Amino acid sequence: METPVEQAALLRRHGVQVTAQRLAVLRAVAERPHSTAADIGIAVRTEIGAISLQAVYDALGALTERGIIRRIQPAGSPARYEDRVGDNHHHLICRACGKTIDVECAVGSAPCLSVADSSGYEIDEAEVIYWGRCPACVTAGV
Ligand SMILES: [Zn+2]
Ligand SMILES: [Zn+2]
Repeated sequence: METPVEQAALLRRHGVQVTAQRLAVLRAVAERPHSTAADIGIAVRTEIGAISLQAVYDALGALTERGIIRRIQPAGSPARYEDRVGDNHHHLICRACGKTIDVECAVGSAPCLSVADSSGYEIDEAEVIYWGRCPACVTAGV
């Protein structure tokens, strides 16, 4: 994991103004991949004290827009954030408890999957979510 100095440099390199709130949000995302904004708000509050949920959303938006973090939007779930970007990896999500883990890109490079008919689109990315039940939920019979 990157040091605060490296994280500040990362923000600057991407043209994002460095603030204590943005650094704390980035750190929380790095420590808890696939967290929701609400989860990140709780983590950041523990670290730097009061921060509004709106400020968390603003920081997440700025970081996502510049490609520093990635936003995934599973159907029927709040958006989740992670700092693993640019490798076209995919996700496994448990329908029962929502636990989300990374799975490697099936072929190692984007767009990973080929479509039956691209309809003339130039495709550069495939974002796959595999839905099922995690081992704990399978064991518990949920
Ligand atoms: Zn589960
Ligand atoms: Zn991921």
